[in-house]
Parts: sequence; C-alpha cells; structure tokens
Amino acid sequence: MKKLTILGSTGSIGVSTLEVVAAHPDAFQVVALTGGNNLELLKTQIESFGPEMVSVLTAEKARALSRMLTGKKPEILYGVEGMIAAATASQTTMVVAAIVGAAGLVPTAAAIMAGKDVALANKETLVTAGHLIMAIVREQDVKLYPVDSEHCAVFQSMAGHRNEDIDRVILTASGGPFLKWDKERLRNATVADALNHPNWSMGRKITVDSATMMNKGLEVIEARWLFDIPVERIAVNIHPQSIIHSMVEYIDGSVIAQLGVPDMKGPIAYALTYPARVASGVKPLDLTALSGLTFFNPDSDRFPALQLAYRAARSGESMPAVMNAANEVAVEAFLEGKIGFMAIAESIERVMDLHVAHSLASIEEVLEADRWGRATARDVLGVQR
Ligand code: NAD
Ligand code: MG
Repeated sequence: MKKLTILGSTGSIGVSTLEVVAAHPDAFQVVALTGGNNLELLKTQIESFGPEMVSVLTAEKARALSRMLTGKKPEILYGVEGMIAAATASQTTMVVAAIVGAAGLVPTAAAIMAGKDVALANKETLVTAGHLIMAIVREQDVKLYPVDSEHCAVFQSMAGHRNEDIDRVILTASGGPFLKWDKERLRNATVADALNHPNWSMGRKITVDSATMMNKGLEVIEARWLFDIPVERIAVNIHPQSIIHSMVEYIDGSVIAQLGVPDMKGPIAYALTYPARVASGVKPLDLTALSGLTFFNPDSDRFPALQLAYRAARSGESMPAVMNAANEVAVEAFLEGKIGFMAIAESIERVMDLHVAHSLASIEEVLEADRWGRATARDVLGVQR
C-alpha cells in the first residue's frame, strides 16, 4: 500500500488525485494533506480520507479548521514548517507535489531530501531549481514521476529506449483560448477570456499560463531537467485537439507518442502506480469520433512568453527562477485586473533584461533570486504587494 502526502490537496490536481485514490482504497492510504484557503474542502477531505496530519497557511486558519472539525481530529499544522512536516511525515512513502507556484519548492525539496518518492505536478520546482533538485534526487536515490501530462507522455514514450538515441522531444500545446486571436484583440483580453480554456480544467494560474503559452515555456525547462535533454532538442507543436500529449523522435526517424482523452487523472494515476496501470477514470479514446488531429508551430509574435522561457533556459543559472517569479507576479496582477494581458509577457521581458544571471548553489539562493524577481516585477508593473 502506498502512503501518501498530498501537498495542495484542495487544488485542481489535488482533487483529481483524491478521486484516483478513492477509486482504489486498497492501494493507497492518505497520511497528510495540505491546503491553502479552501478550509471547507479540506474539512470534507479530512472526513473522507482520515489523514493523521494536515497543514494550512496560517495559525489563524489552523484554529478555524480545528473549530470546524468534529470527532477525531488530525494534527493541524500551519505555514512552511507545517508543509515540510507533511512532506516528510515518517509514514509517507510518496508525496504528490501539487501546490501551485514557487511556494511548492521548499516542501517538495524537503520531501526529496527525506527520501520520499515524488509525483511532481509543481513544475515550478524544476523551473526554479532544476539542477539542485535533480542532484538531490540522485543523491537520495528517490523516484521523481512527472504528473504534467506532456512529461508523463514523454516518460511513457521513452520507456525501453536509450537516452542517446533521442533526436528531439516534442511537447504538444493546445494553444489555449487565444489560439486564433490577433494582437489587437489580445491586448483587450479579459480575465474571463483567459480562464476559458478549450480542453483542460485547471487552477487559475496555470490556465492563464496556458493562455500566454508561458506554461509551455515552463514545461520546456521542466523537460530539460526531468529527461536531461538540452533545450535545443525540445520543440513545441501546437496541437489544438490535445489528444497526443507529447512525443519523442528517435535518430532512426521513428516518433513515439502517447495519446488519450485530456484528463489529468490519467497522468496522476500513472505517477501513483508506475509501472502498474490502474483504471484511472479517464474515458476511453475513440479516434474515429475525432474529425482530425492537426499540428503547427507556435507564433512567437502573439505569444512571446514561450521564447522568453527558451531564453531563460539557455541563460540558465538564476534566470529561470527570476522569469518564473516575474510571471507569478504578472499573472496575479492580471487576475486582479491591474494589468492587461500582453503586459504579462512584456513585464517578464523587462525583468529579465534587468537581471544578470548568476549561479545558484542552494535552495536558499533560489529563494533569494525568486524574491529579487518578484520585487523587480512589482517595480516594473507599478503594483503593490
Ligand atoms: P490550484 O490553484 O488549483 O491548486 C493549488 C493548490 O496549492 C491548492 O491546494 C492551494 O491551496 C495550494 N496553494 C496555493 N498557494 C499556496 C501557498 N502559497 N502555500 C501553500 N499552498 C498553496 O493549482 P493546480 O491547477 O492544481 O496546479 C498545481 C500545480 O500543478 C501547478 O504547479 C501546475 O502548474 C501543475 N499542473 C497542473 C495541471 C492541472 O491540470 N491543473 C496540469 C499540469 C500541471
Ligand atoms: Mg502540461
């Protein structure tokens, strides 16, 4: 039986993870859960899954949650310390890292340092600190399974093959809600427009990242670390149907792809039960019901964020962490109605222009680069904390 900690259990990935867990009660036990603001949902999850430990954002929320619970209560912790305790709980054998943003880095790193296998949804962990994280993964000899659908597809398409025979990794992208919008229209895109993703139902931050295509940029950097492939060998194809989740092209010209109905329960179940496959709740794929699968190159003029991520990846060192921080500040400002849609990528570029990349020797130095990126992005955008 796998004993799980789910970091970010109240989010989109967290909820889907618990759906997979609930469908296989003999395979999993939930040891610890962490959540942010949605205490009602956390309460329901505690009642359904009976974790020993939960963690929330603040002491005040911990007291509020305690008052909401009747009957047997788990240990209720809070803050970064609480997330670390949940990530390293002695009983836990696998940690599902499903917090959004750079906030997921410290607890995910703590889990790996404590020797836990990790099912990784929080791509920002590898974007900001990939070299350090992969080194700790090797040192601790833990398994890091990708939950991101593209990386799960690449992982499956690489199985049984030699890394040196790979020519290219091709990540697919739906193109998001603005695939056909011209630049003028993009300038006036509203929050509701950006949150209206055609194929995937996800948290707000990653949904906006999908609209700017920064999500694909973050995924290029994530793939670079997960699979030890130079970014020059990682391509992006727009594939609006989101049926092929990514592919690997080999030196003999063969391309191996993974297909499926777009539903995160598929990649989540695979990460949780690898190498076994279990019923995940994903509907079977009926290719005959589709009118066609199409592919084309991304447009960097309308979606400059993707090229910014390639630039950050090539620069390396602190640049991806700074870019990620600037993106988080800009997306939040956009969601709060303070800036326009195109200002997201424009501001990230300004912050990157102002940054002189330097090496990062520790997680603390990554957090320092993250703080610099956030402060500079706020200055550039003229927004307050
Ligand atoms: P979400 O916003 O739905 O949920 C995020 C979770 O993290 C919630 O439980 C929230 O309470 C918690 N959280 C947020 N800020 C926090 C903070 N500062 N400290 C502690 N906890 C905090 O996000 P999501 O869509 O589930 O995405 C989670 C991660 O998975 C992201 O890194 C995203 O890029 C990645 N991912 C998501 C999807 C998807 O389909 N949703 C697909 C691939 C990858
Ligand atoms: Mg993805």
